[in-house]
Amino acid sequence: KLHNTILELKGNIRVFCRVRPLIPEDSPGADGKVVSYPTTTEALGRAIELTQNGQKYSFTFDKVFMPDASQEDVFVEISQLVQSALDGYKVCIFAYGQTGSGKTYTMMGKSGNPEQKGLIPRSLEQIFQTRQSLQSQGWKYEMQVSMLEIYNETIRDLLSTKDSSRTEYGSNGKQYAIKHDANGNTLVSDLTVVDVCSTREVSFLLDQASHSRSVGKTQMNEQSSRSHFVFTLRISGVNENTEQQVQGVLNLIDLAGSERLSKSGSTGDRLRETQAINKSLSSLSNVIFALAKKEDHVPFRHSKLTYLLQPCLGGDSKTLMFVNISPDHSSSGESLCSLRFASRVN
Ligand code: ADP
Ligand code: MG
Repeated sequence: KLHNTILELKGNIRVFCRVRPLIPEDSPGADGKVVSYPTTTEALGRAIELTQNGQKYSFTFDKVFMPDASQEDVFVEISQLVQSALDGYKVCIFAYGQTGSGKTYTMMGKSGNPEQKGLIPRSLEQIFQTRQSLQSQGWKYEMQVSMLEIYNETIRDLLSTKDSSRTEYGSNGKQYAIKHDANGNTLVSDLTVVDVCSTREVSFLLDQASHSRSVGKTQMNEQSSRSHFVFTLRISGVNENTEQQVQGVLNLIDLAGSERLSKSGSTGDRLRETQAINKSLSSLSNVIFALAKKEDHVPFRHSKLTYLLQPCLGGDSKTLMFVNISPDHSSSGESLCSLRFASRVN
């Protein structure tokens, strides 16, 4: 039986599932037979089945990418959504899944191999190319980038040189207060915002952010998988012929690993960390569902992440969630949780 998914409710919300290939790090004897893909005409490319403890669970999404899907195959399916940020839409693309399921591969890709470039570099290339071609029609665009991390409900600026030398999160007295103005613009106080006009400039900033994240990681013990990474590109365009104006935003978010840590074993910092992640991931799910169901009350304020992204989640904004799945046997429990999270079957 196919469970109800977010599909029936969706509006401007899409959910794509991506299953990564088996990698050498997967458990020995893993054969990837945990997941299968129904091929009836109706379900082709949209359905996934997961077998756990002898039971088969079926899910449908807007799209299911099998392990052999390339980065290009994935980008083709989202390029229009990226494009709409240039038309003035507010766009959020999330990667959700347990650590090791392919979130960062999907978002950033592997550096050094152009074919393995992820969504973020591909989106930027497309945006800067389109920007150039729209010039002949009178369009002038200004673009600004910011990158931050949310760890334990605390914002960390990844483009501030001061922050990267910090040993503790939130210890430099900066508040990073989130404010939304009447035009739906978000302002995070003290956050570094950089004007950019080429893919190369953004690549440089991405390297800086990744360095800043890895400094935090060694000092704070693998925290990058325990924090949300939020890349924001703000686009303002004006047409010199028609005086038309657009304000678009593209948010690309690599979420913290969704794995449950055993409750009994977690104490102190680790417990606090887990609670913060659970809180923000469940509040993201609550917000997306409240929006999809057009409920009057959307609980944006329940976490930093949803409050930060509030103007980009409601209204006529567009949201895409990737659910990343590991194909190996030992991950089947977490994979089932992720599929359920995305289809909200409880
Ligand atoms: P996460 O960010 O969810 O923790 P990663 O993106 O780091 O997971 O992926 C874990 C490992 O699997 C990495 O070595 C990554 O290169 C590899 N990987 C993930 N997805 C793919 C894919 N679609 N094709 C090839 N390798 C992948
Ligand atoms: Mg990652």
